[in-house]
Amino acid sequence: MIEKITFDSGVSGPHLLVLGAIHGNEVAGPNAIFKIIDAIQTYQIHLKSGRLTFVPICNMQACQKDIRQIDENLNRVIRIHENPSSYEQHLANELVPLIEQCDVLLDLHSTHSKGDVPFAFCDYPTSENKALIEAINVQYVLLGWPEIYAGKTQISDYSTERCAHDYQKTGITLECGYHKEEDATDVAYAAIVNTLIHLGMIDGTIAKMPPKTSIRLTDYIVKNKSGHLCQSYKHLDEVIQGQKIAEYDDGEVLYAPYDGYILLPNANAEIGAEWYYLGVKG
Ligand SMILES: [Zn+2]
Repeated sequence: MIEKITFDSGVSGPHLLVLGAIHGNEVAGPNAIFKIIDAIQTYQIHLKSGRLTFVPICNMQACQKDIRQIDENLNRVIRIHENPSSYEQHLANELVPLIEQCDVLLDLHSTHSKGDVPFAFCDYPTSENKALIEAINVQYVLLGWPEIYAGKTQISDYSTERCAHDYQKTGITLECGYHKEEDATDVAYAAIVNTLIHLGMIDGTIAKMPPKTSIRLTDYIVKNKSGHLCQSYKHLDEVIQGQKIAEYDDGEVLYAPYDGYILLPNANAEIGAEWYYLGVKG
């Protein structure tokens, strides 16, 4: 059973759902959620309208082992499974009804490499999603996730964000920076506070931020066999056409097909999982 905690203001308003540790080793979200829960319970934050549900740790078993997942990537199987065949599919069956019951979803993640820049995913650029992202304290927005998965069969794309969208909810995913950096917890904490202010659920003012920079995803690259990334890439490192990005142990080399950015590089990706993504400005 996943553990959740709900605060009800008793005044009508939106129902915000905040998820942490969909991937077990991404502890910035849980750390920030526990801090906010403490702030609410000690009356430092006053919920004036709506309802607020937290699932601080969605993937408990993976979190306890400090690993991304137990059987498979939870953020690719967020749908109802009639006959769940993995630990994560059981979790998905508990999470989907929570997403269905909320009005707004904030899903907090963190990334694999030291120095990674925080960013928001805007998979479905509805006016509500765009307005929420505007209120969030990150500079970068990644567009085009569903498009790069569409038409490919190797990996399914049942993410929390897609689930929220399918239920016609507002929903965004935030990558708060490198898992182990204290700053990532601060980014996650500020994002929850800004979301609450944006939704009118708490009092406060959102600090003015510089305009966001949009990056459009163009492809994802699956690690098909044993190999390594050729540099210790960070999220949003620039790459130029023809640059050697990765090399398999059998000698096959993967090059940058065009000028752009390497996104979400995962040096420790498992075989069969996404190794890195590519994107361009816009
Ligand atoms: Zn994640």
